[in-house]
Amino acid sequence: MEKSIFQLPFQVFARRQFYAKSQYWSADQIRQFQIEKLKKLLLHSGKNVPYYRELFHKIGFDPEKFTGLEQTKNIPLLDKETVRRNPEKFLAVNARKFGITWDSTSGSTGTPLHFVLSNSAQANKIAALLRSYSWAGYKIGMKTLCVQSYYFKDTDFKFNRLYNVLRFDSNKLKKGSALEAIKLINRIKPKFFMGFPFDLLMIARFAEEAGIQINPPRSILTYGETLSNRKRKQLQEYYRCPVFNFFSLHEGAAMISECEEGNLHLIEDFAYHELIGEAGISKLAGTNFYNYSMPLIRYEIGDNLIADGNVECNCGRHFRVIKEIAGKACDYIQTPDGRILGAVMSHSIDLAKGVLCSQIIQQKLDEIQVKVIVDETFDDKSQSELEKGLRKRLGNEMKIEFQQVEQLEKQPSGKTAFIISKIGNVYE
Ligand SMILES: [Zn+2]
Repeated sequence: MEKSIFQLPFQVFARRQFYAKSQYWSADQIRQFQIEKLKKLLLHSGKNVPYYRELFHKIGFDPEKFTGLEQTKNIPLLDKETVRRNPEKFLAVNARKFGITWDSTSGSTGTPLHFVLSNSAQANKIAALLRSYSWAGYKIGMKTLCVQSYYFKDTDFKFNRLYNVLRFDSNKLKKGSALEAIKLINRIKPKFFMGFPFDLLMIARFAEEAGIQINPPRSILTYGETLSNRKRKQLQEYYRCPVFNFFSLHEGAAMISECEEGNLHLIEDFAYHELIGEAGISKLAGTNFYNYSMPLIRYEIGDNLIADGNVECNCGRHFRVIKEIAGKACDYIQTPDGRILGAVMSHSIDLAKGVLCSQIIQQKLDEIQVKVIVDETFDDKSQSELEKGLRKRLGNEMKIEFQQVEQLEKQPSGKTAFIISKIGNVYE
């Protein structure tokens, strides 16, 4: 993904012009645009996509009669498993016309989902993504540090002069390689950092331990993991610059970006986002407007959002604002008294000073292991706050074993899950 951003085809340039303007549309313009785009997509899907041909016939849905956004609710939500089981049923019979690029993504279980993106879906994704990056201060060609899962064979990091990007393989993140990379960072001085919050924090920690400073970028963009207030604050302190949160799906069904005013906007000129559920925590479902090769309609995304009501943002954009992305759907903790706790567990460590990162591994129903990476400010008081925070959520029957560690367990995707269940409470 990241590679393609720096290989801009002509189509992306054209779409960038569009996105530069559409970001300032009125709420009414956005709605009209969405109705028009959805109608076209629904007509195409009902005609050319086997899954939707059958489904629309079965539920009696007629795309010709689509006139308002609320009518999308007549179509059932689509879960990832349905696509994973039968990807070919979602492939349009005339997909060749729109371009067929196979891509894959792995969920938190590391099980890959294979899907197709059309040329237009790809161009739109890159153009919309670049606009989001620009909200965070990025300009094309700006010298960038990108920490991602690259699976480099022969090296831990490398600087590409053509694209002006220093790529660090997050799979190789360890003290030695981080310190080597920091030397290079301090020599070439990238102005923009991007990566998982966890990885950027670890690099900062290695630098601190070694008593060296990292030349600060102008801003940081994070994605791939929940950016808690705590992690944001730590990143801001270490790198002495603003931090922007960004969320996007490989499948292109949703995009959420933080603007200059610090608000998280649903990117509504790129995909149709639905917040499903009661006020408070909502489930997110998304529909990409452009993927005619493999349309996914009302595609459920395993992350919860905390909606924020009708917030008007001072940035001048009318895309809806949400308060928080409440975390990747991760494994969850089950307590002996029957509680089911997911990403909410991360608040357990909010008050424990000196905890850099933590991970909870459930070994048995009444036993968890809490692994923490701490800095020198971690003391007895932190420990007792940590225990208090956990007890509050886990109750008194759970045995808690604490471990101070150097490294947390990583998943094959390169992501570090906050919760790992070894008793079968795995997100699928
Ligand atoms: Zn804004």
